[in-house]
Amino acid sequence: MPEPDTPLAERPWEDVARMLGVDEALERILAAFARLPAQPVPLLEALDLVLAEDAVADSDIPPFRNSAMDGYAVRAADTVGARRTAPVCLDVVGNLAAGYSASVRVGPGTAARIMTGAPMPEGADAVVRFEETDEPASTVDPPTNEATRRPVVAVHREAKPWDNVRAAGEDVRAAETVLRAGTRLRPPEIGILAALNRATVRVHRRPRVAILSTGDEVIDVGPALRPGQVRNSNSYTLAAMVARAGGVPELLGVARDQVTDLSHRLTAGRDADLLVTSGGVSLGDYDMVKDVLRAEGEIAIWQVRMKPGKPLAFGHVGGTPLLGLPGNPVAAAVSFEQFGRPAIRKMLGRQKLGVPTVEATLLERLDNRGQRRHYVRARVDRDLSDPAGGYVVRAAGDQGAGVLSSLARANGLLVVPEYLEVAEPGMRLQVQMVDWDLG
Ligand code: AMP
Ligand code: MG
Repeated sequence: MPEPDTPLAERPWEDVARMLGVDEALERILAAFARLPAQPVPLLEALDLVLAEDAVADSDIPPFRNSAMDGYAVRAADTVGARRTAPVCLDVVGNLAAGYSASVRVGPGTAARIMTGAPMPEGADAVVRFEETDEPASTVDPPTNEATRRPVVAVHREAKPWDNVRAAGEDVRAAETVLRAGTRLRPPEIGILAALNRATVRVHRRPRVAILSTGDEVIDVGPALRPGQVRNSNSYTLAAMVARAGGVPELLGVARDQVTDLSHRLTAGRDADLLVTSGGVSLGDYDMVKDVLRAEGEIAIWQVRMKPGKPLAFGHVGGTPLLGLPGNPVAAAVSFEQFGRPAIRKMLGRQKLGVPTVEATLLERLDNRGQRRHYVRARVDRDLSDPAGGYVVRAAGDQGAGVLSSLARANGLLVVPEYLEVAEPGMRLQVQMVDWDLG
């Protein structure tokens, strides 16, 4: 192993100076993407997609003045001074259910029984809850006004005008722009669009992402492995990450390390919005992907200053953008998180493209030789002893580039900057919270 303190100029084996930084690689990749065209979709299919048009209300919500409680619709002036020991008695002129227009008028000295959501009757300007009247004790055999022969309710509390009344348009006013183009549709926004009577909405469509694994040794899920073979896990990790990011994954299988098979399988992904390959982009004898890509498209192969995941290819084949990830399972996943997910989010029209991060206190010492940005599979926890409610972070086991189980144990990627050779306990560092989506 080279000594880490050997001057850079004497380290041709690493040549970090010529490597591309992660941020620069991301910038170049993102420049190749734009948000995808808008298309109408049924409302529920729009969940998590980005609205492509302003949503303007064509009427008030709620559409009419209605009761916020089960109780009695009254004229507030009639209840002045009412208390439990000195209730005000009002004649009951009707019973109003939700779903029907109010059939009665509430004149002086009268009240109407009313249910939540029922339109307020003319003349009434407040609702007194059942609990503040002699209901429900009196419902079976209500007292009757001897003169009018009408049932009577005793009101135990003074109502102020508009108590327990919901105004028409209190939520949304007619002609108001309720949601702007560019908004991500979460469940509340879906509900608002339903309230606006939208059966379909225009959103930026999901990108289709074709995924091709490569390697003579790589065998898809199914047949038993023969000596020297490994299971294709990358296609599945990547497909799940594509789906999580909002794309539609399409599996193109596993290509042999042969020019003909690779070109043939790549052709099947030409209609996709993005092609993702794994393997075959490093310096080994059978890393054919780079040769095929160079021959068939315009592709740059970069060494990116990151760990895991140094080799990375990006460019176009037949007009389709292609992201060539390394084959090591963790390197593939970490590189996809840094470059693939933001590209998908950009196509979706999302505003925040990167992974949300938190600052956390490191609990153990970590080496970071080689001047690359190290994405350490990590466990982040809330530190309950910290009055500020801070986060603490430790490595989640073996950091080998092929060890997928430690990625499964992780809930974040701790970012050790390229300039830091040793991260010490107590340092505050950024952690990418890979399972979060803050919008
Ligand atoms: P490569 O980048 O092609 O040199 O592959 C690097 C390592 O990742 C090798 O050990 C491969 O066997 C392994 N590998 C490549 N593709 C896959 C895959 N789809 N699933 C699991 N491991 C893979
Ligand atoms: Mg390979």
